[in-house]
Amino acid sequence: MKLTAENYYSIEANQEYLSVSQYKDFCGSLGKLACEAEAMAKIRGEWEIRKTTPLLVGSYVDSYFEGTLPKFKQDNPEVFTQKGDLKSNFRKAEEIIERVEKDDFFMLSLSGEKQVIMTAKMFGAKWKVKMDSYLPGKAIVDLKVMSSLRKQHYTKDFGYMDFTQYWGYDLQGAVYQEVVFQNTGHRLPFYIAAVSKEEEPDIEVIQIDNKHLQEKLYEIEQNTQKIIGLKKGLYSPIRCELCDYCKHTKILTKPIHFSELLGEV
Ligand SMILES: [Zn+2]
Repeated sequence: MKLTAENYYSIEANQEYLSVSQYKDFCGSLGKLACEAEAMAKIRGEWEIRKTTPLLVGSYVDSYFEGTLPKFKQDNPEVFTQKGDLKSNFRKAEEIIERVEKDDFFMLSLSGEKQVIMTAKMFGAKWKVKMDSYLPGKAIVDLKVMSSLRKQHYTKDFGYMDFTQYWGYDLQGAVYQEVVFQNTGHRLPFYIAAVSKEEEPDIEVIQIDNKHLQEKLYEIEQNTQKIIGLKKGLYSPIRCELCDYCKHTKILTKPIHFSELLGEV
């Protein structure tokens, strides 16, 4: 199928194409456990993640820069109080937008073509990407609204790390760069234009270097076969038993021992 702004997130598109968010659902990022069962339920259209307020604040800022804020407000009336004023979280979003607009370099990074869709065949699967700001021949930029840009995130196996690795934005950069390369022959630098929701918003344009992106792409290559098999129904997806989907669908058959509650610590 040919992807458009209207059908990009449709069930049909998600079944035919692999995306970075699907990849992260199947394989996790350092900061999020994978759940194959949840990933498959999302692809079948049986499960959606809740639109939490922090997610909505990010989408509010995204849609402003896309030029689709009026539609966003129409689709998400929960951003307003009963009196019709913006709720405080979204007044914060307005503040973030004002801060970002004062910075010429940040705005330059966001001055590309918005929400550009591309597809490519990689590692035996068809992939789809949608770029926040695409500057042909120059750069690929993704806008992120974060709670903090400097926070150290901890994982048991890898220790402390920054938000880009923790949330797998480097995986996103790797796929975006490769898809653009396959379409245009240009391997463009990947940047994250990041702004924080702190009392005083912090801003940065952050590059994830090509060497790191290539390493991530190799990792993605190793995992793609398994995802293709799962999507074709060749294997049954493993339940993580920890995510909201698994909690929602679990059926008890026997008691567990109290020592099982914490799993492997
Ligand atoms: Zn799960």
